[in-house]
Amino acid sequence: MRALITGITGFAGSHLAEYILAEHPGVEVYGLVRWRSRTENIEAVRGRVVLKEGDLKDMVSLRTVLDQVRPDRIFHLAAQSFVPSSWRLPAETFAVNALGQINLFEAALSLKLAPRIQIAGSSEEYGHVNPDEVPMKETNPLRPLSPYAVSKVAQDLLAYQYFKSYGLPAVRTRGFNHTGPRRGDVFVTSNFAQQIVEIEKGKREPVIRVGNLEAKRDFSDVRDIVRAYWLAAEKGEPGEVYNIGSGRAYAMREVLETLLAKSKVKVRVEVDPERLRPSDVPILLSDSSKFRTLTGWEPRIPFEKTMGDLLDYWRGRV
Ligand code: NDP
Repeated sequence: MRALITGITGFAGSHLAEYILAEHPGVEVYGLVRWRSRTENIEAVRGRVVLKEGDLKDMVSLRTVLDQVRPDRIFHLAAQSFVPSSWRLPAETFAVNALGQINLFEAALSLKLAPRIQIAGSSEEYGHVNPDEVPMKETNPLRPLSPYAVSKVAQDLLAYQYFKSYGLPAVRTRGFNHTGPRRGDVFVTSNFAQQIVEIEKGKREPVIRVGNLEAKRDFSDVRDIVRAYWLAAEKGEPGEVYNIGSGRAYAMREVLETLLAKSKVKVRVEVDPERLRPSDVPILLSDSSKFRTLTGWEPRIPFEKTMGDLLDYWRGRV
């Protein structure tokens, strides 16, 4: 079997490549990379994956890659994935996420390929959630609150539409927040961990800058999530959508306290207005029973371990 991962150089994509190589040794792993992609996340798998150059915004490149690889599975993870940047770059976010996926689908159709494609949607698609709507099921209304979230809704519904219109077997996942080693430093959990390690090493004054500490997010370990992506591609019903999350919401304050409890530093916490969003989602909490019943998946890695591993990742880098 041949599996193509778009976004292999990113956070989840690199873990997915490691997971497939370790757990499904008969699978040949291919990754889509841009010529300037940073490859530090995939150092551990270098030589064991085949990298192909392309860009979601360039259908010619995608067609060439698909023609060469002829994948049986595509894990479509590549995206402009950072919510705050999506307010500054709404059109770019749409070009990469929504139009990029159209390019990928059209490239597959033009080659008459019908690989199973896992689409990495997001809990951000639910956006505004009323208190009586948590935990959120797949049937919850989609009320996205950022250009990123709207672009993910577009990806999600395009996958549905291409399955219905052309039979392209796309399986839609709505991943809730995940974190762990290699999480980009702009993302909150990783950013807190990086700041703590910089303070540990005397490279920063003992002040942690934070955004909204009351926001609650359903965190999982990235290594549990990529295992779920594999299961979604194997066992998911084409055209269907599945929530994937831990089912436990953590306030950002709790995330910070868990990280600080694993360090000896004493810090002052300061709110940085730059880190507050124009419209923030107060709580995201998953009901992923549809996916769990279908696949038997459940998270294995405790939150405490994820936070410890994240700190250790930064201790190795700062
Ligand atoms: P990252 O930002 O870490 O990785 C994004 C990847 O997309 C990188 O490999 C990047 O390549 C690639 N990429 C960006 N633009 C293009 C382009 N124009 N053409 C080709 N590749 C491109 O994201 P994550 O790993 O965190 O997320 C993976 C997916 O999961 C995303 O779709 C995200 O929206 C979704 N998701 C993530 C959640 C999370 O908590 N992490 C939650 C829910 C959904 P390069 O190295 O060249 O920049």
